[in-house]
Amino acid sequence: MGIINDLQDRAAGESDIFLQIFNQSPAIEYLLDPENGRIVDANNAACTFWGWSREQLRTMHIWDINIAGQKTLERQFTDTKSGVTKFFINQHRIASGQIRDVEVYAHPIILKGHQVNLIIAHDVTDRRRAEESLRLAQRALDAATIGILIADAQQPDMPITYVNPTFEKTTGYCQAEVLGRNCRFLQGPQRDQPGLDELRSALKEGRSCEVILQNYKKDGTMFWNQLHIAPLRNEAGVVTHFVGAQKDVSDQIAANARIEQLAYYDPLTELPNRRLFLDRLAACVAVSQRSNVFGAVVCIDLDNFKNLNDAASHEVGDDLLREMGQRLKLSLRQQDTISRQGGDEFVLLLPALSDNSEISANMVQGAITRIQKAISEPVVLGNFQHHITASIGVALFPKGVESASDLLKQADTAMYRAKATGRNSVCYFEPAMQAAVSARLTLEQDLRQAMEREDFRMFLQGQVNASGKIIGAEALIRWHNKEGGLISPMAFIPVAEDTGLIIPMGTWMLRQACRTIKKLEQAGRPIRISVNVSPRQFRGPDFRDCVAMVLQETGANPNLLTLEITEAVVFDNLNEAIAKMQQLKALGVHFSIDDFGTGYSSLAYLKKLPLTELKIDKSFIQDAPTDMNDASLVEAILAVATHHGLQVVAEGVETLEHVDFLKERGCPLFQGYYFGRPISGEEFVQKVLSQPTENVYTAPKM
Ligand code: C2E
Ligand code: MG
Ligand code: MG
Repeated sequence: MGIINDLQDRAAGESDIFLQIFNQSPAIEYLLDPENGRIVDANNAACTFWGWSREQLRTMHIWDINIAGQKTLERQFTDTKSGVTKFFINQHRIASGQIRDVEVYAHPIILKGHQVNLIIAHDVTDRRRAEESLRLAQRALDAATIGILIADAQQPDMPITYVNPTFEKTTGYCQAEVLGRNCRFLQGPQRDQPGLDELRSALKEGRSCEVILQNYKKDGTMFWNQLHIAPLRNEAGVVTHFVGAQKDVSDQIAANARIEQLAYYDPLTELPNRRLFLDRLAACVAVSQRSNVFGAVVCIDLDNFKNLNDAASHEVGDDLLREMGQRLKLSLRQQDTISRQGGDEFVLLLPALSDNSEISANMVQGAITRIQKAISEPVVLGNFQHHITASIGVALFPKGVESASDLLKQADTAMYRAKATGRNSVCYFEPAMQAAVSARLTLEQDLRQAMEREDFRMFLQGQVNASGKIIGAEALIRWHNKEGGLISPMAFIPVAEDTGLIIPMGTWMLRQACRTIKKLEQAGRPIRISVNVSPRQFRGPDFRDCVAMVLQETGANPNLLTLEITEAVVFDNLNEAIAKMQQLKALGVHFSIDDFGTGYSSLAYLKKLPLTELKIDKSFIQDAPTDMNDASLVEAILAVATHHGLQVVAEGVETLEHVDFLKERGCPLFQGYYFGRPISGEEFVQKVLSQPTENVYTAPKM
């Protein structure tokens, strides 16, 4: 008989209501007898929870369910005897055998003078397990040996909402300093690292990614941060957070770099070794074969290094090799590779020269001249000064489908040939290149000698006006060589330019021209003379002084001297060119732009330059009477010149058609075979002196 039934007996109407409330309450409720632990009654929720029927429960003790056991429960009952509501956390084994966590409130109540405990219980198993796993997760984050941070993806700029102790330890920032900030503050000044783009797009697309970034600790030290980020989504699939796991991998990266250094670099000179060289060469050969841009492999073997190494100590030998490596590096371009292949052999890779084999060979030759100069500077090691020379072998590519190691062998073969011909020499693997380079070297030598012996002649070619009278001349250099022939400037001006011989040569021509100006002026037949000025000459620091000196020395009228420069000279550095032209103009000389139309053809700069004249290039004149394009170009140049108040000379006027065409369009001055070929200075002076006097030239006003 349960107490509830007693109640039922007592006041059927009233107790019926309480019974219903008790039974239908959604909370688990039951009554216990604290004297003996019996379950007096249990409501529907309790029956459902435990999985026993009310009848079964009424025959059971609470310790049949509560796994704490009789002793503990008896203590709990004793506690409730004070009449105060008590709270316990218990574990119940339900009918299925499962253990559930329950929080219970035990309210002692008196029924018919007898104390029973009304128990209201909550099944808190799920909540407690969730709490437990949260606590575990938190402990795991705190104990993790990798740095972890969580950022809120739903707030602007994704502020950090959590960092773990390892994050604090690796970065030196404490939690309070980073919460609420975007984690980019770790990047310091490195805002364009390769990994950042990937990171940004992963954040934007809500996916995970792994990158290695250069980050900075609070104390400013850089570290390599291997960062893995992953999105956290809510039930709706929306990314709410990003969790980042980071690891300082600086040691690993340093170790990798060290391994790479050992694998690919020569430990003595720290230059690339044979392996890295072959890798780079193979890549470069592949590019060359596709683009047809030449490259070169250059083998350098120091002459007599063995003797020095044996005579002095090996340390001295090592120092010498290091020094040579350094010098080679300084004398080459950024993109060139200098490798040491062992012993005293250095091998260079000169990539991306030119798509023209001759220009490429010249570039290689230029590099070799610099290398030879660098190597031959005396080296002081210990108490001795050493003079080093080298034997050099060159192989150019692409020739066909040769491999990197083939090319290395070719350069090596050429180097041995160089050694055999006597030390301190250069050999090319390619016979044609060898011939070209030898010819060029001979030309250079001959040109030097010619300069010393003044084996040059000044030729003059007249410039005439519309009535065919000579009003000026262009000075053109000729080389009277050993064999008695006259060599065209086209053949030697580029070499003179490369070797710097153009400077004394240009001064020599200037002097000849000024003497002639003076001579004709004194004879009462002043004409103006144009002198070609090469780029290197014009850019030289002493050019103005040189012109001033020659003018003074010869007493020539500066107004009768015109300097011909090309568009390229001006364009390379417009402001510098203008400044220099102004200085020269102040001496009284004039400027003419030679070969006009072949260069940049930007007419916009014309008014910025202190010019007197344009010379229309002969290539346009040649076909102007028949070719529409050339005709309109010539017309345009004449129009622009008139607009800017410039004089115009048409070059290469060979036929009467040329003359007619030009005259019709108002061209004022002509130069070309039609009026006369270039002739020696003396002949030209005679020609002018025999001209009728009324055509005396008056210099243009400055
Ligand atoms: P440039 O200054 O344009 O000289 C004009 C060239 O055209 C000269 O060649 C001249 O002989 C040639 N020529 C003249 N009339 C005709 C013609 O009717 N038809 C054809 N086809 N050609 C004609 P040259 O003397 O062989 O000089 C070639 C270039 O060498 C010059 O071109 C100039 O750039 C350079 N040069 C000549 N002398 C000197 C010099 O003293 N110093 C420097 N830096 N360069 C010079
Ligand atoms: Mg000229
Ligand atoms: Mg010209």
